[in-house]
Amino acid sequence: MTKLAPVLSAHWDEKDSFTLEGYKRHGGYTASAKALAMDPDAVIQLVKDSGLRGRGGAGFPTGMKWGFIPQGDNKDHYLVVNADESEPGTCKDTPLLMANPHVLIEGCIIACHAIRAKHAFIYIRGEVTHVVRRVNQAIEDAYAAGILGNGIDVVLHIGAGAYICGEETALLDSLEGFRGQPRLRPPFPAIAGLYARPTVVNNVESIASVPAIIKNGAEWYQSMGTEKSKGTTLYSLSGHVVNPGQFEAPLGITLREILDLAGGVRPGHTLKFWTPGGSSTPLFTDAHLDTPLDYEGVAAAGSMLGTKALQIFDETTCVVRAVLRWTEFYKHESCGKCTPCREGTWWLVQILRDLEAGKGTEADLAKLLDLCDNIMGRSFCALGDGATSPITSSIKYFRDEYIAHLTQGGCPFDPVASTLFAGAGA
Ligand code: SF4
Repeated sequence: MTKLAPVLSAHWDEKDSFTLEGYKRHGGYTASAKALAMDPDAVIQLVKDSGLRGRGGAGFPTGMKWGFIPQGDNKDHYLVVNADESEPGTCKDTPLLMANPHVLIEGCIIACHAIRAKHAFIYIRGEVTHVVRRVNQAIEDAYAAGILGNGIDVVLHIGAGAYICGEETALLDSLEGFRGQPRLRPPFPAIAGLYARPTVVNNVESIASVPAIIKNGAEWYQSMGTEKSKGTTLYSLSGHVVNPGQFEAPLGITLREILDLAGGVRPGHTLKFWTPGGSSTPLFTDAHLDTPLDYEGVAAAGSMLGTKALQIFDETTCVVRAVLRWTEFYKHESCGKCTPCREGTWWLVQILRDLEAGKGTEADLAKLLDLCDNIMGRSFCALGDGATSPITSSIKYFRDEYIAHLTQGGCPFDPVASTLFAGAGA
């Protein structure tokens, strides 16, 4: 069995892991001292060599992204950390920031040095007040200790709470004080990002992974994971499992192995469907238990690794109802900028509500898929595409269950229904 490989989460069980003292006890801030003594280009090369890929969903190589920042342009450069975690099921950055905010601050110092930036902004959701307080305290402590303020500053920016602000260009608009809506690209943030200046936008986990890479070297990081997906990462297990939580393991571990480590699906029940990377990634079933959870393995099986939010649903869950709830979320969070998503997600919800209530005909399923086809690839940003993923994949794997709602005139999983749908999960 693949073992857990705690790097980011190595000391989370220590009661002062979030303090400056707790972080320094395990060598905290020695990596930034080492990086600051290096040539910035050498830092970028080291991160490139490590194979670290962005942990926010897209998996773009982190070092390569840093390398896109033009040098010698006499412009201010910025680092922006995306801590706007809000995909349903995604819950890795919040525990990371609660347990060890200093590793993010140290990562910011290293990244700023590499891209020749003097300012880093951490954009965080306003709703997670406890995380805001913890990161704020860590920043204050780092300033008091002289770790920050010597040429590199870190600012915590509290967002008003919008899923779309997790999209990097919408985040930049929000950070500038505008309504958070995606920008047309090009220009990309590396050329014209925050305040129209060259900007790197990275996920919390990506930046937090950097200090260990600087400390232990690129080869060490490359020795973990798979051929093209290097290192360890946080898998967030939730739903119908015995022990939900964060499991840090090398990329390429399978859900079967993680479930073994987590005590399995809750007793007396069986796995029905799951998300490999949050609710915007196509669903998997028990047929995908041995799919390697790395960028290539999940893509080859027809989904995306996304944020590695493994939401587990057993046979008692109505897939139509679960998909309806997610679709309501995407409709609510649609920023309204483009028609396919703004109008399309509204219609998706109307049709799904009817289907879940057992109203309509099989032709509505075709209409639902046609709508998805007109949203996917025609929306301005990935939110529209993501909204269609749970719908199309659930119809692919659980078409019988959709039909059963129609033939029984309601949800077969409703406790008042006379019979439980016998073919659930078929
Ligand atoms: Fe806004 Fe949705 Fe269009 Fe993205 S896809 S720009 S969220 S309306």
